[in-house]
Amino acid sequence: MQDTFRHQGLRKRLVQELRTLGINDEKVLSVIEKIPRHLFIETTYGDDAYENKPFSIGRGQTISNPYTVAYQTALLNIKAGDKVLEIGTGSGYQSAVLAELNAEIYTIERHQPLSKKAEKILKHFHYSNVHTYYGDGFKGLPAIAPFDKIIITAAAPEIPKELLKQLAINGIMVIPFGDGDTQEMIRITRLASNEFEKETLSTCTFVPMLKGIVD
Ligand code: SAH
Repeated sequence: MQDTFRHQGLRKRLVQELRTLGINDEKVLSVIEKIPRHLFIETTYGDDAYENKPFSIGRGQTISNPYTVAYQTALLNIKAGDKVLEIGTGSGYQSAVLAELNAEIYTIERHQPLSKKAEKILKHFHYSNVHTYYGDGFKGLPAIAPFDKIIITAAAPEIPKELLKQLAINGIMVIPFGDGDTQEMIRITRLASNEFEKETLSTCTFVPMLKGIVD
């Protein structure tokens, strides 16, 4: 499937919708306008890719809706060159959004087929600043830490201690927290080695963050 003028038009409309929903980070909006989201999900969804909806990506998982991607990305306040850890590669779409903001992305997925598929599409778009890992995100990537930003794209039943350790001083973590049907979006800023600021933001809905890997 190709990117067409029609898809580009649908993306413009989506960006307008995100504005009305309160997203006002122009950099994030321009990236959403640029990336062909329909190429990250099953082709049968075609034009629907530009509805503000999540979609199934296999293995019982979903690509987050565009509002949520934009919202979490804006909360991270990405600067060019930031080292970013993403937990839950899924379709790879969120990784592409971060890559377009010129950050260095390390993304972990616990389902091997999803990780492989995402790696393939991200290579197709020549995102040399995205590094995909098949593994358990609860462990993070200690060899590559500290990270300036950490984004968790699955609902965490607890704030993973190991990931807090891997956050740089002044680093930001954005995490949907809770084990019910809906969660709270939390932004954590590491003020000092042992000092973290925690802001509880809006209600959100994610698939659960689970331990271990699945092949
Ligand atoms: N960022 C993704 C959203 C995918 S949904 C996108 O843009 O498409 C969340 C993903 O998190 C799922 O693919 C799920 O398998 C994955 N996940 C859940 N727990 C995980 C863990 N402990 N480590 C790594 N990935 C995990």
